[in-house]
Amino acid sequence: MSDSTRNTHHAPDTQDAGWRFAHSYTQLSDVFYARSRPVPFSKPSLYILNRQLALELGLNFDRFPEAELACLFTGQQIPNNADPIAQAYAGHQFGGFTFLGDGRAILLGEHETPTGNLVDIQFKGSGQTVFSRRGDGRAALGPMLREYIISEAMHSLGIPTTRSLAVATTGEPVYREKMLRGAVLTRVAASHIRVGTFQYIAARKDFDNLKSLADYTIARHYPGLVDAKEKYLAFVYAVAERQAALIAQWQSVGFIHGVMNTDNMAISGETIDYGPCAFMDTYHKDTVFSSIDDYGRYAYGNQSVIAQWNLARFAETLLPLIHEQHETAIELATKAIHSIPATYQRYWGQTMGKKLGFTHLESVDTALVESLLTWMQQNKLDFTNTFCDLSSDQQLEKEIYQDASFLNWRREWEQKLLDAGIKREDAIATMRQVNPTIIPRNHRVEEALQACEERDDVQVLERLLAAITDPFSQDADLQSYREPPPPAQRCYQTFCGT
Ligand code: AMP
Ligand code: MG
Repeated sequence: MSDSTRNTHHAPDTQDAGWRFAHSYTQLSDVFYARSRPVPFSKPSLYILNRQLALELGLNFDRFPEAELACLFTGQQIPNNADPIAQAYAGHQFGGFTFLGDGRAILLGEHETPTGNLVDIQFKGSGQTVFSRRGDGRAALGPMLREYIISEAMHSLGIPTTRSLAVATTGEPVYREKMLRGAVLTRVAASHIRVGTFQYIAARKDFDNLKSLADYTIARHYPGLVDAKEKYLAFVYAVAERQAALIAQWQSVGFIHGVMNTDNMAISGETIDYGPCAFMDTYHKDTVFSSIDDYGRYAYGNQSVIAQWNLARFAETLLPLIHEQHETAIELATKAIHSIPATYQRYWGQTMGKKLGFTHLESVDTALVESLLTWMQQNKLDFTNTFCDLSSDQQLEKEIYQDASFLNWRREWEQKLLDAGIKREDAIATMRQVNPTIIPRNHRVEEALQACEERDDVQVLERLLAAITDPFSQDADLQSYREPPPPAQRCYQTFCGT
């Protein structure tokens, strides 16, 4: 594929921040990528840098002036050992298949962390690539800060996710419905290999490269399977298991991804591509935030079914590797896909059970969880705060909890805990470990983004980040972050094409 070298320059300045680049992905055939460069930007400026994450990655940016960091994090100074590429992939977007690829992202390579892990370092919003189609390759400040906030919140909640290392502004406008400020996000991921990466190579009917990609991905993310019998089938089961566990974790905190297209589903099992995602305030299983999700395809209550659908598309790509006889391959893959609901239910029971104080899956009664959720939905209650209230005798004195159906439910719950031999104080300890008191509530996220976009006031953002990265805190000073939105801000909508 073409090498779209542009006039960015190599400078030694931030080279010794500790980068240790490897380039295993580019060992694959070049059908999987195109060498690509960030475009020049007129006035780079560093907006926010995640120094804690930098430390975890073995990177130290402390001694570099901000101007140098601004050049680094807008792609104007590429680390010497980077080998920038845009990755090719395809995907089902809202059900329809398309060839895609990184239209506004550039991968610098895989950085080796102090613990020996390889993580992708990727710029998002760094300009057009050969995969840009009609897009401008750019990103706006608000959405990049939004990804930063939500991904760091997810990480603090213990949910597998890509991370955000920095956001820098480009000094150039980005044209959406209105003119916005351009920005680049530096994203860190276990990898950016997607269900869509497999769909891309399978759609080209390139068997040899399909096998190379599968072997590469197994070695990188599922090393335990390298020598497994029927390893490609085992690979399907293993990816399905990680996805099932991931979606159960999303459900347990009320996270709605919003655009679960197959190209936004990472094979590593991390949450990836934060677009129109949001956390639910008031519980309702049909909650949708995305302005373009008219039919609720990616609603809260549909996420596990969609994950299964996406995994079916994944398994289809591997059919020629699963078995040489097509009929047998289909039979084996179908069985794997049909096993997903039970796997998901197991993880869901485990995570939701813990939210009610049950430590062992065997003691969890999923009907008990379901009936609580139904009651919450009927009474339009806040998802996060209701679970927190359940571990506080004082909160349970509130009027809403004197409701007859809740009192019945509570008696049943307390009986089930007793039956499982779990004392109330132990249940409370478990619940406080898993029920966040602070999530990135939409109105607080919007408030922080507005302060940045309109007044360049980063303090609101910094305070929000401090709160959401301490999500299980009982600290009274953080109380304002626990409040649901005022009624006027309850109809929240998120937008794609950001
Ligand atoms: P997303 O919905 O952000 O996951 O993106 C879906 C596809 O559209 C991916 O191939 C992106 O690279 C591409 N894309 C999104 N925004 C832009 C943009 N502004 N310019 C070029 N490509 C884009
Ligand atoms: Mg995407």
